[in-house]
Amino acid sequence: MRLFIYCSDPREEADLENKINKSLILPGEKVMRITTFGGPIFLAHPIVFRSQANTMLDQIRFAIEKFKPEKIVLVGHNCGFYQEDVSLSKLSVEDKKRDIFRIRKMLDSRHSGQAFKAYFDISNEQSTKFENLSA
Ligand SMILES: [Zn+2]
Repeated sequence: MRLFIYCSDPREEADLENKINKSLILPGEKVMRITTFGGPIFLAHPIVFRSQANTMLDQIRFAIEKFKPEKIVLVGHNCGFYQEDVSLSKLSVEDKKRDIFRIRKMLDSRHSGQAFKAYFDISNEQSTKFENLSA
């Protein structure tokens, strides 16, 4: 079973839950989810978001130990949670993409043997699209 980690932002332009269900999850596929406002981004800024980063690492460790996900899928977007800290409030979409890429690399080295994948929401009004950041 795959584990998805993403932001809970419910606004229509974000709504990752709906987009993920539509394009990244197969019909009938059962998945695990960790959703918080900000999703995985704390892990790219563990000094700014120390308690959230520690909680997220703990949740991931627990999931790997107890539920052995076949893959852990990180999904980023142009997240509004960056506005919570003034030092991060000016980051560009490209910076936010790089964050998700770096988080996947960090988790890869921390949990050898666990498969990770990363996507970034690049949807527009016409269509739902995710850029694969796993290369
Ligand atoms: Zn967000």
